[in-house]
Amino acid sequence: MARILTGIQATGVPHLGNILGAIEPAINLANDPKNESLLFIANLHTLTSIKEPEVIRENTYAVAAAWLALGLNTERTIFYRQSDIPEVTEMTWYLNCFTPFPMLANAHSFKDKSDRLSDVNAGLFDYPVLMACDILMYDADIVPVGKDQKQHLEMTRDIAGSINHNLGKETLKQPEASFDENVMIVPGIDGEKMSKSYGNTINLFQTDKKLRKNVMKIVTDTTPLEKPKNPDTCNVFKIYKLVASDEEVATMRKNYEAGGYGYGHAKQELYEKLRDRYSEPRERFQHLMDNKHEIDQELEKGAKRAREIGRPVLSRLRKELGY
Ligand code: ATP
Ligand code: MG
Repeated sequence: MARILTGIQATGVPHLGNILGAIEPAINLANDPKNESLLFIANLHTLTSIKEPEVIRENTYAVAAAWLALGLNTERTIFYRQSDIPEVTEMTWYLNCFTPFPMLANAHSFKDKSDRLSDVNAGLFDYPVLMACDILMYDADIVPVGKDQKQHLEMTRDIAGSINHNLGKETLKQPEASFDENVMIVPGIDGEKMSKSYGNTINLFQTDKKLRKNVMKIVTDTTPLEKPKNPDTCNVFKIYKLVASDEEVATMRKNYEAGGYGYGHAKQELYEKLRDRYSEPRERFQHLMDNKHEIDQELEKGAKRAREIGRPVLSRLRKELGY
């Protein structure tokens, strides 16, 4: 049995790209009985960039509600909030003292911002060490990451290696990264990759009316209604393909190629597809956001289980270090 650990950022309500590209695949992986999964909301990392308490709190709830609404099984998966495990900040200190300064100075995440050093806080500089700790504290075997996180995983392995070397003992487990080769890229309403920072997202977790308006904003070309259209260059079709059945996709393709089928029709079908496919998660999301104590209950249950794994690792390290 492999212990898989995944961290998720608390950056607000997940959009369709996050759901199809990250959340649904992770839930499937977590539901595989061969694995033991830990999944946490990295809300301490959030403080490196967001300082408003209300925003941090709401974002954390929104992310948790989305995962729960989309069917994360919290019996199988240990689902918790990073900030509910304060031990991780203690252990990060120990790791810091074994982390070479140049290694952090070379991190892409820091280098990208090093031309504006006055904007960089020490927390942002230290981001990879807290991340290493999130992983090492739970003796994780496998960490699924995107290419952008590859360097952070190598640093995690290096930090663990350095501590083990110094102590002359296999004190921390060096995790393996796992890369999903065929990650999907969901296009946004303008055809670019859907991203919060591009402002081109489709947000499922809003009212029907707003979701419809959101879908109607998808950018299309100016081919007149009666003319045949090329589905493969159309943003509406590209998104529809990701959420509809093969049969439904084939039908829409025929409609495009036949002519007399406008982009408005296609958008309406996409809207209905999203509305119906996600009707249960959308309702459940709203219920959870209106009843946050239910989210708290789930996360506290997860934190208790996570601590049972993390505390002995921290004790082991403390003892080895002479504390
Ligand atoms: P930002 O604009 O701040 O980068 P984002 O909207 O791109 O935010 P991330 O926080 O970068 O979202 O990504 C969260 C997860 O969702 C990652 O696993 C990422 O690979 C996945 N993801 C994000 N956007 C897409 C997309 N358009 N298609 C598929 N997966 C995506
Ligand atoms: Mg991104």
